[in-house]
Amino acid sequence: MKEQSRMEKMMIAGPCSIESYGQAMETAKYLKSLGVKNFRGGAFKPRTSPDSFQGLGREALEIMKAVKKETGLITSTEVMDGKDIAAVYDAVDILQIGSRNMHNYTLLQTVGAQDKPIILKRGMSATMEEWIKASEYIRRAGNDNIIMCERGIRTFDTYTRNTMDIAAIPIIKNETGLPVIADPSHGTGRKELILPMSKAALAAGADGIMVEVHPQPERALSDGEQSLSFEEFRYFYREIKSRD
Ligand code: PEP
Ligand code: MN
Repeated sequence: MKEQSRMEKMMIAGPCSIESYGQAMETAKYLKSLGVKNFRGGAFKPRTSPDSFQGLGREALEIMKAVKKETGLITSTEVMDGKDIAAVYDAVDILQIGSRNMHNYTLLQTVGAQDKPIILKRGMSATMEEWIKASEYIRRAGNDNIIMCERGIRTFDTYTRNTMDIAAIPIIKNETGLPVIADPSHGTGRKELILPMSKAALAAGADGIMVEVHPQPERALSDGEQSLSFEEFRYFYREIKSRD
């Protein structure tokens, strides 16, 4: 019997930010109709500018709970502050540490004390060694259920938002023994690069892909330029599955 496809196990898709009940539910239901199992959505958004949309916060957590109840999808969201840990734990299945917080060691210890999987994104200027050490903080606090996420690093080039470090995928897998996924949305900032970078990541041994999807990317409150529309996602997912 054919083994379950890798992409069925770990294709994490959803909007950058949860913007409303309708936007989240529509996206989740669409993704589910295609066979996606993991739904992502930001509640607390770590935006570079304080003028940018900061996320719906606790209201978004309630929406995540509703999505879970309605669709049964596995949900994930970023926790930015230890004071929100109980609320985030209660709302989703997987907790995410974002790039900007990879060096926040008290937050790493806080999520390390939880019994739910943690997605640990690579700091945008973190060396692989620093990223591995960050995972150790989580492990030593008692949680070794960690998914490492390569989301691009800051380099001198400005054609892309970040530079996807494909070599990090096999290195981190070998060094840590942990699953590694790739996020070409944040890794490139450009939706047309999501498919080629996903293929590269899978060829390098990635255990999954995280990708931003929005019903109307041009109207998204965050990261629309790196989010796939439903139709674009459907094509992307078919292409990826055919190579799995
Ligand atoms: C995210 O995945 O929502 C996000 C903000 O990504 P990163 O932390 O990699 O910038
Ligand atoms: Mn985003």
